[in-house]
Amino acid sequence: MLPQLANPEGQVRQFYQALLSAWGAQHWWPAQSRFEVIVGAYLTQNTAWTNVERAMANLRGARALRLDGIRQIPLAELEALIRPAGYFRQKAARLKRFIAFLDARYGGSLTRMFAQPTAELRAELLGLNGIGPETADSILSYAGNHPMFVVDAYTRRILHRHGILPAAAAYDEIRSLVERAIVGMPAPVPKAAPSPLAHSPSRISRARRSAASQHFNDLHGLIVSVGKLHCHKTSPKCVGCPLAPFLNGCEPAV
Ligand code: SF4
Repeated sequence: MLPQLANPEGQVRQFYQALLSAWGAQHWWPAQSRFEVIVGAYLTQNTAWTNVERAMANLRGARALRLDGIRQIPLAELEALIRPAGYFRQKAARLKRFIAFLDARYGGSLTRMFAQPTAELRAELLGLNGIGPETADSILSYAGNHPMFVVDAYTRRILHRHGILPAAAAYDEIRSLVERAIVGMPAPVPKAAPSPLAHSPSRISRARRSAASQHFNDLHGLIVSVGKLHCHKTSPKCVGCPLAPFLNGCEPAV
């Protein structure tokens, strides 16, 4: 049985340091433009990233992976292009709705939209159909460089399995714990041996952002790699996981 943790923030900091030492930066989000991040954030809902990549390739091939492309393309064509990402009718309608919001509220300008204060813009995004906290924070963090940590299923699973938070912890409780834990840490030292899942540096991964934003970006990417390589939904592969030493010989919580 895992002991009760007296200092969950300290534990999260140690996770981040251990993962960075083991694998270095993972270069999230793999995209060449802010709009590509936004499209990817919508398309990745309820599907694997490999399916998103196929849909994105279709959009790119049709020259539709840009604001005006999604604005102009007929809905039925958009549905056909993003079909590999699943729920394609729903996702196509939501992408169109995002453009309508951007045009009506910000004159079609992502720069104007992202110039809003973080909390206000987050509330606006959460008010759009099809945008939950994970999608809103992905857009804010990766496309807008707002300092938000993106909580995904892997984050929840890893923190629960290590006895840091209950499995049913609220999204914003998890987010604020992680943000408190790592916000003021010194800049990470680049590592020469990336994990097998690290992306190649992209325009978005190399964009200028605050130190806090960079920490949130890097930790999220590292957690995705832990989830994909080791912390599977069933039967976690703790052997070889950089976070295994933090179990102190105990079994992960179930
Ligand atoms: S695989 Fe095991 S050691 Fe790694 S994060 Fe999951 S529970 Fe922890």
